[in-house]
Amino acid sequence: MTPTAGLRLSQLISKTLRQAPADTETISHQLLLRAGMIFPGAAGVYSYLPLGWRAFKKVENIIREEMDRAGGQEALFPGLQPLELWQETGRNTAFGPTMFSIEDRKDRRLVLGPTHEEVVAQLARSYVRSYRDLPVLVYQIQNKFRDELRPRGGLLRGREFSMKDLYSLDADEAGLDHSYQLMIDAYRRIYERCHLPAVIVEADSGAIGGKESHEFTSLTPTGEDEIIHCPSCTYAANLEKAQGQKGEAPTDALLPLDEIATPSIKTIEALAQFVGVPTSRTLKAVFYSVDGKVVFTVIRGDLDINEVKLKNLLKCNELRMATEEEVAGAGLVAGSASPLGLKGIPTMGDDSIALGANLVAGANRDGYHVKNVNYPRDFQVDTIGDIASAAAGQGCPRCSAPLQAGRGIEVGHIFKLGTFISQKIGAAFLDQEGASRPVIMGSYGIGVGRLLAAIVELHHDDKGITWPLSIAPYQAYLCPLYGDGSQVGEVTEELYQEMLKVGIEVLFDDREDSPGVKFNDADLLGIPLRLVISQRSLGKGNAEVKWRTEKQPQLLPIEGLAQQVKALLWGS
Ligand code: ATP
Ligand code: MG
Repeated sequence: MTPTAGLRLSQLISKTLRQAPADTETISHQLLLRAGMIFPGAAGVYSYLPLGWRAFKKVENIIREEMDRAGGQEALFPGLQPLELWQETGRNTAFGPTMFSIEDRKDRRLVLGPTHEEVVAQLARSYVRSYRDLPVLVYQIQNKFRDELRPRGGLLRGREFSMKDLYSLDADEAGLDHSYQLMIDAYRRIYERCHLPAVIVEADSGAIGGKESHEFTSLTPTGEDEIIHCPSCTYAANLEKAQGQKGEAPTDALLPLDEIATPSIKTIEALAQFVGVPTSRTLKAVFYSVDGKVVFTVIRGDLDINEVKLKNLLKCNELRMATEEEVAGAGLVAGSASPLGLKGIPTMGDDSIALGANLVAGANRDGYHVKNVNYPRDFQVDTIGDIASAAAGQGCPRCSAPLQAGRGIEVGHIFKLGTFISQKIGAAFLDQEGASRPVIMGSYGIGVGRLLAAIVELHHDDKGITWPLSIAPYQAYLCPLYGDGSQVGEVTEELYQEMLKVGIEVLFDDREDSPGVKFNDADLLGIPLRLVISQRSLGKGNAEVKWRTEKQPQLLPIEGLAQQVKALLWGS
């Protein structure tokens, strides 16, 4: 049974704000601040205030129940982790500056855990001896620390944030597949119970690593993630990973190279227009600084380089666009750079360069380009692969239907890690034949605060939050309109006690404020059911009861109101 809970608004530590503070863009950030549910501490760091914390705990509890139902064992791992543990897997370099690290008084380096695969592998090394000890699903709900480049959106991207992270330990691939499916099913139930529709998309594994991963994405136009999906089959992927068909190999006869003057032409669009060809008949050169060295990349002019794919192909730690000085320093002519005759610089090509004939490319000479460039006749690259961003309109890689693009918030991410972490940490077990094998790991994360914020992104209107009942900090908002010498005060006090007794969670607006102020706050705070007790309705023996998402109140007899409200709430 849920403990009965009530709160008098006059005693609440936080106050509502009329206006969203400056520098807040996302709606959940604005509303959670205005409602006094969170309070900023530092960039990307927030306090949860009592109302926000209650909503948080509702989400957390749903997650906990579903993890337990799936067979997960709850534990709590340390936030402080020795750097040496990370050096064993080398993932400290993959996380790089995102990882907070500190020094203790004895000059030992510790990190503030951005995730806990190493810690769990260490547990497996100690406890998992034989195949009989597997499978194991162990999880925690704990704050993670990541020095995000751009913390934003309040709870959506924080630097200290709560995550549920579950780890699966299995003896074989079939076991991992089974654990993975258990988590997919559990995640689906979590989002459903949170009233947050989420689609599952193929994803890049990022710094976590591993061979296969999926994200759960709440589709919303304001989301940070770009999603590519197919309207006619089930294909859906994060743009970081998505593939699109790039066309057929050309059958045109290859023409001889032909250098042309292209005065003051600097962009692909201007070049295509000048020559009178579509951008798909051009080659685009882009320069990156990769772990401190300039890398030349080339792609068909109608496509864009996908930096995540490029990073994966290069297996590097740091990748960014090269600066003008770095480009010039490498002897390249920005605006007319070309793979033709290039020497001494590592070159990467998107496989689209083989899917076009007689293309226009730079001449490596300011003000000149070359027509009829063909790969591999005229130039080679060190590595070729898919480093292009998929785009709406391209063919689906599975069924060829035109792809669509959308945006969303990543509200969960699951990974088939395999054995790369357990091998490095030395977490092994004896199989049925007595042979030693590395434990097969999976890892499954949900950002609790981000999920809460995503719920607000979906459930609000122009007046405030419209919490789903399962998440709302309180179920009912008891709102007396006190008048001089009226019985309102007495009746409401009694009703409050009665509601608590029957198990309703009540936020009691016992403030002496005007109806306007109280109604505005009730709307902003988004409690699902509002009860207004006024002298006028009491005169007829009634109270006004209104759902937050409905316009019109209903009149219910004050006699036995607590039971009726309970029936309304439990029945919805
Ligand atoms: P993102 O791509 O958004 O930076 P990530 O892929 O680095 O996230 P994971 O390591 O997959 O994050 O973390 C698992 C889950 O934790 C994410 O799906 C998300 O719900 C949540 N999460 C990750 N980073 C943050 C953050 N900075 N603030 C709040 N929640 C986060
Ligand atoms: Mg992720």
